[in-house]
Amino acid sequence: MRDKLKIAVVKMTGCAGCQMEFLRLEEEFMDLLEKVDIEYFVMAKRENHPGPYDLVFIEGSVSTPRELEELRELRRRSEILVAFGDCACTGCIPSILNWVPPIVSSRVYEDFTAIHSRKESFQRIIPLAEFVEVDVHLRGCPPHKDTILEVLKAGLLGVKPWLRLHPVCVECKLKENGCLLTSEHRPCMGPVTAAGCGAICPSVGRICEGCYGPMSDANPESLARVFMEECGLSKDEVVRKFRKYAGAARAFLKVAGGG
Ligand code: SF4
Ligand code: SF4
Ligand code: SF4
Repeated sequence: MRDKLKIAVVKMTGCAGCQMEFLRLEEEFMDLLEKVDIEYFVMAKRENHPGPYDLVFIEGSVSTPRELEELRELRRRSEILVAFGDCACTGCIPSILNWVPPIVSSRVYEDFTAIHSRKESFQRIIPLAEFVEVDVHLRGCPPHKDTILEVLKAGLLGVKPWLRLHPVCVECKLKENGCLLTSEHRPCMGPVTAAGCGAICPSVGRICEGCYGPMSDANPESLARVFMEECGLSKDEVVRKFRKYAGAARAFLKVAGGG
């Protein structure tokens, strides 16, 4: 076991919501600081250090050559690299860009000159694991704060974090919810989505939209069939559902691509 972890929290292409979730550890923060040195976290502190780090949380996906260079450098300087949140793991909502024809952007923005990030952009959203080895995929949009603590604890103990990759349905059943898919024929993404949120949405009568990304061994083709045959969705609607949070994830690519 380590005495203290040197960590960094870094942002790439994402909305900063995952970093906010880190800051939501407010009740645990003072205890945490006894075991964790936050070496780099621009959102939270003024003085930041370039590493090396024991553990780096990287929020967001790669969308520019500058981010790609930074990612490779962080990989060299960090022992444990955590893809922090769905943008980093699967592209998440920004990856809808990958499916949007360029003409749509030019209809929305008549003049791109003020959008500096566009000049250097790949015009694609790419998950971190496409470029470097990722040690931990911490899923969720954003990940639940308990799972952030789990990763920090595992880093201190030098073990693999216990992150759930069974489906949301398991958590939903443990809460004794009625099933919105089988009883009400509503297109719930729970059967292919990784658990971790505690089945928040079905517990209040809303279908799961898939914001934790694919579970292990998901069967998206089978669920897509159920959505069309039993929930009345068109093929286009099914494709849009699978693109929404994890269209760039390999597990969903076939269904999200409409193939
Ligand atoms: S995973 Fe969600 S909360 Fe985190 S950066 Fe991406 S869009 Fe924001
Ligand atoms: S409501 Fe959704 S998450 Fe719950 S058991 Fe049914 S399909 Fe699974
Ligand atoms: S139920 Fe689904 S959409 Fe809702 S928070 Fe959990 S994973 Fe996300």
